[in-house]
Amino acid sequence: MELIIVIAVIVGILLLVIGAICKSPFNYPYFEKYIDVTGRRNPQVSELLDEFISKDRMVQINRHQQLIEQWKSDCQQKVQESKLHNLRQRQYEDAIDDTHAYRFTLYRRQTKYKQVNYTKTAYKVNNDIASYTCDYSYLANRNTELSKIGYETSLKKYFSKQQRCLMTSQLRRQIIERDNYTCQICGRYMPDEFGLEVDHIVPVAKGGKSVPSNLQVLCIKCNRSKHDKWWFENNNQIHQS
Ligand SMILES: [Zn+2]
Repeated sequence: MELIIVIAVIVGILLLVIGAICKSPFNYPYFEKYIDVTGRRNPQVSELLDEFISKDRMVQINRHQQLIEQWKSDCQQKVQESKLHNLRQRQYEDAIDDTHAYRFTLYRRQTKYKQVNYTKTAYKVNNDIASYTCDYSYLANRNTELSKIGYETSLKKYFSKQQRCLMTSQLRRQIIERDNYTCQICGRYMPDEFGLEVDHIVPVAKGGKSVPSNLQVLCIKCNRSKHDKWWFENNNQIHQS
């Protein structure tokens, strides 16, 4: 009986040791940034990242990128020296996650109340509302573009402003007459121009220009539903998790 217990204990310890040895020693060093969006309606992640880059000027990001490179060379060293070379190599490759290296979590501060000894006490909590990840090149490219406009504002705002200046009342009149006061999606005729909007077929945020070939007449209803659809397609380089 005692022998069985001793054997069981030895087997248990052996299993633990083997488990510990086979466990991956590689943990990818993700970049984590929390962005406070309290009081902002519909926070747009591409704009928030532009704001972060404009403030940071790639200081934190480049420093972190160096850390990732250092981590990689340390890991390669470990793989080389390891007696479990093949296993470690596989584990190292599994751990690398460059496409999601940079993680940004948006949160709101919220005041909550609790009852303590018959008095209401306020306390703050942070609510994460969304997480986005991207790779280093997205941020680096964004930084290059932002530096060209002197970090004046986010790329979206800058580009929109520029294109809106080109959207003159003359051009608007030209499009309305060309499209004969008619919504190009549902065919509604609006001779009094009430609820009539001139729409960018490719949105300004996606690189669409204020030129006749990219403009059309839409009724307010069709324009709204089109706009909602575009927003999700607008951020395909950033992954929501
Ligand atoms: Zn319509």
